[in-house]
Amino acid sequence: MHNKWYQGSCLCGELTFQVRNIQDRIGHCHCRMCRKFHGAAFSTYGEVAQNDFEWTKGEKFISTYLAPNNTKRQFCSCCGSSLTFRTPKNTTHIEFSLNLLDDEVDVQPNAHIFTDFKANWTVITDDLACYREGRDSELKRPR
Ligand SMILES: [Zn+2]
Ligand SMILES: [Zn+2]
Repeated sequence: MHNKWYQGSCLCGELTFQVRNIQDRIGHCHCRMCRKFHGAAFSTYGEVAQNDFEWTKGEKFISTYLAPNNTKRQFCSCCGSSLTFRTPKNTTHIEFSLNLLDDEVDVQPNAHIFTDFKANWTVITDDLACYREGRDSELKRPR
């Protein structure tokens, strides 16, 4: 059933999108930028190929924040919801905030990343793999 389209929307509902074929590499990111941008202990992004992501309503509400490291984060200009994340080197896939999906998904996060930067009040209580930085960095705790 991986071909099923999952429906997503921002907090105010002006923006909607759909995704399919969610990749099996969902991580909880504890980097400082994700923490600031989401106003939360970590972000959780899903990843799909460009062709598996479609805006279905409200594209005029998309705002983009270009960070000093050239990563791009899109957010809803009406409600501030975090929408997507892109690095300049990844032109084939798009990352989207998994929390925006209104449907239950059949994939699960499998790692914590950038745990060297996690808030000291965040305690990781699950048994997922923990990487110091990205998935190609040192594995601090295997699954
Ligand atoms: Zn919105
Ligand atoms: Zn991050």
